[in-house]
Amino acid sequence: MKRVLVWVILFAMPVRSSVARHTTRSASLAQLGEIAQVRAALAWFAPNVNWINEQQARLTEIPAPPFQEGQRAVAVKTLLSAAGLDVQTDATGNVIGELRGVNEKEVVMLSAHLDTVFPAGTEVKVRHDGNRMLAPGISDNGTGLAALVAIARAIHEAQIKPQRTILFVADVGEEGEGNLRGMRSLVDAYRSRLKAIVVLDGAGTDHVTTIALASRRLEVVISGPGGHSWSDFGMPNPINALVRGSVRFINTKVPASPRTTFNLGQIEGGTSINSIPYEARLKVDVRSESESELTRLESALRECMAAGVRDEMESSRDRSRGKLEWKVALLGSRPGGELAAESPLLASLRAADAIVENESRIERSSTDANIPLSLGIDAISIGAGGSGGGAHSLQEWYDPSGREMGLKRALLTLLGIADVVPEKK
Ligand SMILES: [Zn+2]
Repeated sequence: MKRVLVWVILFAMPVRSSVARHTTRSASLAQLGEIAQVRAALAWFAPNVNWINEQQARLTEIPAPPFQEGQRAVAVKTLLSAAGLDVQTDATGNVIGELRGVNEKEVVMLSAHLDTVFPAGTEVKVRHDGNRMLAPGISDNGTGLAALVAIARAIHEAQIKPQRTILFVADVGEEGEGNLRGMRSLVDAYRSRLKAIVVLDGAGTDHVTTIALASRRLEVVISGPGGHSWSDFGMPNPINALVRGSVRFINTKVPASPRTTFNLGQIEGGTSINSIPYEARLKVDVRSESESELTRLESALRECMAAGVRDEMESSRDRSRGKLEWKVALLGSRPGGELAAESPLLASLRAADAIVENESRIERSSTDANIPLSLGIDAISIGAGGSGGGAHSLQEWYDPSGREMGLKRALLTLLGIADVVPEKK
């Protein structure tokens, strides 16, 4: 009996205290919307919606192809400075606007990526069709950047003093082969002080990304001496080896759960129809809910290509005239991770949803939040309100109708985690 009682106490105690802590926190989060300065910040959005829409169009019309975000970064820097922030551009190209908190040892970040997927020369002039704004990148991430600037401005106008330091960040390298380099260097620089990151990406208020989908991008390169299709027949052929290896790889079994996928996305090589090629290349994208499945697939790709090269060498008639070289290079890697269900950041988002009467679902996705989440730092990625579609296409659009709700939701989430020093009466 006694032993049972001890067990009951041991198990009950931590549970009870964590529930109590949670309740107090929720209560203070719910009251956030009652603080006069916070109300003033929330009220700033509605009369300034036209200004916010204009900034979004203006920023979208400054091209920001991968690795060429500089010009747009300068424009965001000006806007953040006008919001009273102390703004720097770091060596990677990220724009960082600081609002010093009472406690400078702890930092909360609000970020939006600067880059688009569109190459230099893409027409980015914004067209209007009724409520809709149309242009490549208008929603992803024109919406996030406009919200970043608007939230900084609302907090400035309302003279909010945060408990923790807030960094308003426009970062580089989120899309494609940018490989999250902007977020990587930010997390590196602030890691010891970083409490949470709220990532603003695209439109909407229907989701909160708390699970980071892990992915790897690999490139296979096989090379050989090359030769003439008739006179050198029998020499090892890199394309043959690539095809042999690819067929083996395609037959690799992947689990439905944890969901794991692979894609042979680009294949190239050869010089002409009547030449034995000297090179063949293949780009492969692998994704999984499990990091270990990714590692398994990457090894499978290497083993299959090694086998493909071996098969080709064994079947070649003339091995004396050169052999095949091969390598598999990692083009990019996005680590996975997950926000704990009881994290204060998620509680803050849920409290914000309750205040603005929004409902949102948990989502798994590949975003800037992958980097902090993979390192155990609290992070979420959310849309910044309004609605949008056609991301990554030339038909991309954004409709700002109702965007204030998304702005309020993001502002409350940020202030919930940064904490506000109430005004002196
Ligand atoms: Zn995006």
